[in-house]
Amino acid sequence: MISGRTTVAGIVGRPVTHSLSPLIHNAWLAAAAIDGVYVPFTPDAFGFERLAEGLRGGVVRGVNVTVPFKEAALKVADQATPVARRAGAANVLVFDRNGKILADNTDGQGLLQAFAAQAPKWDVQNGPVTVVGAGGAARGAAAALLEAGAPKVWLLNRTLQKAEAIARALGPKVAPLPLTHSVSALQQTTAVINATTIGLEGSGSLNLPLEVTHEATVVMDMVYKPLETPLLAQARALGRPTVDGLEMLIRQAVPSFVHFFGAEPPAKVDARALASHRFDRNGQVDDRRHVP
Ligand code: NAP
Repeated sequence: MISGRTTVAGIVGRPVTHSLSPLIHNAWLAAAAIDGVYVPFTPDAFGFERLAEGLRGGVVRGVNVTVPFKEAALKVADQATPVARRAGAANVLVFDRNGKILADNTDGQGLLQAFAAQAPKWDVQNGPVTVVGAGGAARGAAAALLEAGAPKVWLLNRTLQKAEAIARALGPKVAPLPLTHSVSALQQTTAVINATTIGLEGSGSLNLPLEVTHEATVVMDMVYKPLETPLLAQARALGRPTVDGLEMLIRQAVPSFVHFFGAEPPAKVDARALASHRFDRNGQVDDRRHVP
């Protein structure tokens, strides 16, 4: 129910139509009987700053930020948490009543909690971790892994210079490598994380030689559309433990909800089961699907 006191929050992205965040946050709001609503915003490609500036003052309490605006979100903020600064990107902006914009990044927390939930035997401190990609998600992942005690992070990317720039920002434990030179990293790694957009909605496959990894190496894909990406299918066929992007999405949403609505999401909502209703038989998000 919308009232004259409804707290408004949302998600800003381009595109944003397939985001599962409105579904998850609005289910939590309804179950907790909080007078709030969570809506999508899609500015044009150059309209993010204008939108964020216009929200100063707290008419909208806060927003999650997704592709391609996470780095712009950090830049527009007046204050940022240390984790957002290290990640070089923000996925949460809060607009306070004094006109200030506060930035946080809950993706790293979401990533580590997804590993804890779906690969509980994996220990971040046990050996090197391989992150594929050098965009905002990869930098956030590398920062969170180092913070949690990973001894080394291999950063594999098509454009080597972008991986090198992240290594300069995060320090000598990050080792940049071209995507075509993955074998040596994969042979030593305890986990492989896809932080590229490859695999998103049928956009091809990473084609990593996963067969060279140790049998306990965990394979994680941040992409969750489809739920079983080509990378996860390849890992499962080899018997490797896997972690999916939906788990990360749900886990990063929890601290976001606290930022916006000042309460923990109610435990009685099974966000994973709820979101899974949106996937069709092929694991693709189906927008037309009725969600109870
Ligand atoms: P981004 O900044 O646009 O970075 C994209 C990355 O993908 C770059 O490293 C890019 O390499 C690489 N890439 C794209 N197409 C490629 C291709 N054909 N071949 C090789 N590399 C390619 O995106 P982002 O913000 O980091 O997000 C990355 C992914 O993570 C997105 O799919 C996003 O939805 C997902 N994500 C999921 C969650 C979650 O909660 N599950 C959270 C955050 C992000 P170049 O540098 O060479 O261009």
